Amino acid sequence: MNTETRPEAGEWLPIFIRLAGQPVLVAGGGVEARRKIDRLLKHGAQVDVLANMLEAPLDEYRRQSRIRRIEALPSSSTGYRLVIVATDDERLRRAALAFAAEHAIPVNAVDDPDNCTAILPAIVDRAPITIAIGSAGTAPELARMIRSRIETLLPQTLGPLARLASELKDSIRHRFPSLPRRRRFLGWLFRDAPAEAMQAGDPSRARALAARALEDSGFDTGGSVALVGAGPGDPELLTLKALRLIQEADVIIHDALVDARILDYARRDADFIDVAKRGGKCSTPQLRINNLMLSHARAGRRVVRLKGGDSMVFGRGGEELEFLRTHEIEYSVVPGITAAAGCAAYAGIPLTHRDHAHSVHLVTAHGKDSIDRLDWASLARENQTLAFYMAVARLSDLQANLRAHGQPASTPVAIVENGARPEQRVLTGRLDRLHDLAVRHSVASPAMVYVGEVARLADRLGWYGSPPLSLECDSPKLTATA
Ligand code: SAH
Repeated sequence: MNTETRPEAGEWLPIFIRLAGQPVLVAGGGVEARRKIDRLLKHGAQVDVLANMLEAPLDEYRRQSRIRRIEALPSSSTGYRLVIVATDDERLRRAALAFAAEHAIPVNAVDDPDNCTAILPAIVDRAPITIAIGSAGTAPELARMIRSRIETLLPQTLGPLARLASELKDSIRHRFPSLPRRRRFLGWLFRDAPAEAMQAGDPSRARALAARALEDSGFDTGGSVALVGAGPGDPELLTLKALRLIQEADVIIHDALVDARILDYARRDADFIDVAKRGGKCSTPQLRINNLMLSHARAGRRVVRLKGGDSMVFGRGGEELEFLRTHEIEYSVVPGITAAAGCAAYAGIPLTHRDHAHSVHLVTAHGKDSIDRLDWASLARENQTLAFYMAVARLSDLQANLRAHGQPASTPVAIVENGARPEQRVLTGRLDRLHDLAVRHSVASPAMVYVGEVARLADRLGWYGSPPLSLECDSPKLTATA
C-alpha cells in the first residue's frame, strides 16, 4: 500500500454498496469465512466459496443451495463485486489476493489490513438506517465497543419510523413545500407523538397521527429560540439536552467562545452564524443578534443561540429573553457549565470548602466602569472565594483594590487560562504578585481568576493538563498579551 499519500480525511472512503443478487467470492471454508458469509447472505449476495473443505454449517448452506462451492479460481473475473479472503491456507490466500488484484475487485482479507482494499465495518442495524463504524483496520475491537455503545442509544423503532417517513414522502413534500417546515414535520415525526406510539408498539397509531398532522398541520410548526449554554470548552461538558438541540437546530447563532468541536455536532446543513464578541468589543452589536434570532424564528426555524459557559451568567441571556418575550417568540433556556465552575473543576479548585470558603462570588472585572462599581469592601473578606470573569486586562486594578480594602498580600490566587480545553494552563501564586504572575506567563483571554484560600489547592488537587505554573517557573514568553 502506498504510505506516501496521506489524504486529509484518511485513506478510507465509507461507502454502502448494494450486493443483493451480486456475486461475491469467499476464499475459505472455516469459522471466519462463515462469519463473513452470514453477513453477505443477510444482504442478499450470491456467495461462491473457494475452499478445499467446507466446515459443518457451510456445508449445510451448500446443500440448501444458499452458497455455491467452486473448486478453482475462474480464469475471468466473472463479475465478482467483492472478494473476501478468510483462510489460513497460504496458497489459497495468495491466489485469492492475486485474483482480486488482477481483476481490480475490492478485497477484504481477514486479520490482514495491509492487503485489504475494502473493510467490512462494525454495524448498528436499524434497517433501513445503518450505522457503520470503521477503524481503518487499526482497531476492530474498538469499533465493536463503539458499536455496542451506539446500540444502547438508538431505539429499535428507528427503522419502522424511517420506513413510515419514506412511505409518506410524497405527501410530506406536497404538504410542506418549504424545506425548514418539512424538517420540522420530520423532527416531530421522529421525536414526538408518532415516535412514542411506535415505541409503545403501536405502528398504526403512529401512522394515523402522522396522517392527521399532514391533513391539518396539527403539530407545532412555529419557530423558536433556545438559549443554550455550551460550557467552557470540553464538548463532553454539554448537557444531553444541549446536545439534542444543537443536533436538531436549523440555525446556530454562536459566540467566539464556543469550541469548534461542539459546532461539529450540528447538522452539516444547519446555518452557522458567528457573532463573535471578544473582550467587550462587539463585532456584532446586540441589536443585530436580536434581529437575527427574530427573523429566523419567524421563518419557522429552530434557532439555537449558543454561548460559552452559561447564557445567564455574564452572557446577556436576560436581555435576549426580554427581547424574545416582547416579540412573542417561543423560547427555552438550557443551562451550561459556567466558566467559574468548569475551570475550577478542571483545575482542582473547590469553589467552596468547609475550612476555607463559605460562599463564592461570581464577579466581572471587565472595563474600568465595572471595576469602579464593585463593592471591594465586601469582596475583600475572608472565608469566601472570588471568581473573576473577563479580568485579564484588569489584573493590576483588581490586585490594588483588594489590597486597599484589606485583603492580605499572601492570599492565594489562581489563573485558569483556556480551562477545560486541551491547551489549559493553570498558574498559582499570591495576591500581591497576581499581575506579575500573568505577565510572566503571558496570560491571555479567556481566563478565570480565583482569589481565596481554595486557589492554593490547585497545586495539590489539579488533575487535568500540565501541573500549575508559578511566578518562579520558567516560561519561554516574557511579555503580557493582556
Ligand atoms: N457566559 C459565560 C461567560 C462569558 S464572559 C460563562 O458562563 O462562562 C467571558 C469570560 O468567561 C472570559 O473572559 C473568561 O473570563 C471566562 N471564560 C469562558 N470560557 C473560559 C475558559 N474556557 N477558560 C477560562 N475562562 C473562560
